[in-house]
Amino acid sequence: WVCHRPGGEYVEEPSEADIAASNAAALERDLRVALTTGRGLSVVYQPIVLLEDRSLWGFEALVRWTHPTRGPMSPAEFVPVAERTGVIHELGRWVLDTACRQVALWQQWVPEDQRLSLSVNLSARDLDQPGITDVVLQTMTAAGLDAENLVIEVTESALVDPELAIPALGRLSAAGIRIAIDDFGTGYSSLQYLTQMPVDILKLDRSFVSRLNGTPQYAAIAEAVVRLSQTLRFSTVAEGVETEAQAAELAALGYRKGQGYLFSKPLTADEIGGFLQVEGRELRREIPW
Ligand code: C2E
Ligand code: MG
Ligand code: MG
Ligand code: MG
Repeated sequence: WVCHRPGGEYVEEPSEADIAASNAAALERDLRVALTTGRGLSVVYQPIVLLEDRSLWGFEALVRWTHPTRGPMSPAEFVPVAERTGVIHELGRWVLDTACRQVALWQQWVPEDQRLSLSVNLSARDLDQPGITDVVLQTMTAAGLDAENLVIEVTESALVDPELAIPALGRLSAAGIRIAIDDFGTGYSSLQYLTQMPVDILKLDRSFVSRLNGTPQYAAIAEAVVRLSQTLRFSTVAEGVETEAQAAELAALGYRKGQGYLFSKPLTADEIGGFLQVEGRELRREIPW
């Protein structure tokens, strides 16, 4: 819009789009600095548990960034900027590398038959990159993590360009990595892709879990997702479980795994490592967090 200044001249104020663009450019620059110096970025790990006995099945790696002047920022704010500017490729690689190394170390502290699964989010923009599968496989192998313990989480938006995404996910799957559809039920794609790509896990979106009790429509959707998964032989994880009532209802519907503040919030590597180093031999009991 145009602003009338004293003195008679008209000055163009920056539009909201201009401000957003310069914010994005500044954030991109700050993120690149963080990635090269390693300062301000970290990965936290949120436990995923078996609903049956609340024992630890694995972790989802979630990126954290403390901006030098703005302080801690939500990934919901900087991941979309990273996607738009392309810096997501380096960020994704950094998270994958950091988390694979971390969990490969932890595997040494738990019994061989109770190896932990690591779930890492890949953005739709990552799947469009030629060579993405080599990057994932090389990073995983160099870190010493077995493919059978790695899960790649993608949202349905990653499947908007199926010509690129489906072959990439197919190669990861052929290598033994499992594929999870994140935030399932909130995307706009057709269910057709479930028959065309190598899905292993559906993660029921938190929005359904939080409305389970008291809203029959949401319970019906949660049930439909678990039935679909049973028929197509996918496993299921319910996201954002916050109450005992939700956990009980999900288990009754047939969900096997859950993730949410009821079980544990995302934790630092030190918090988890401290526990595993001392008590990793006894994972098949309720997690202590
Ligand atoms: P997501 O992959 O669906 O991750 C789950 C989000 O739900 C996390 O938010 C987690 O902290 C939050 N959460 C877990 N349990 C509960 C609960 O009981 N209640 C509530 N209200 N929230 C819960 P976070 O860490 O803020 O991440 C937000 C999103 O940012 C992620 O959603 C994912 O889409 C994206 N993201 C995070 N880390 C990465 C990353 O390394 N790479 C990419 N590409 N995206 C990431
Ligand atoms: Mg996720
Ligand atoms: Mg999710
Ligand atoms: Mg989500």
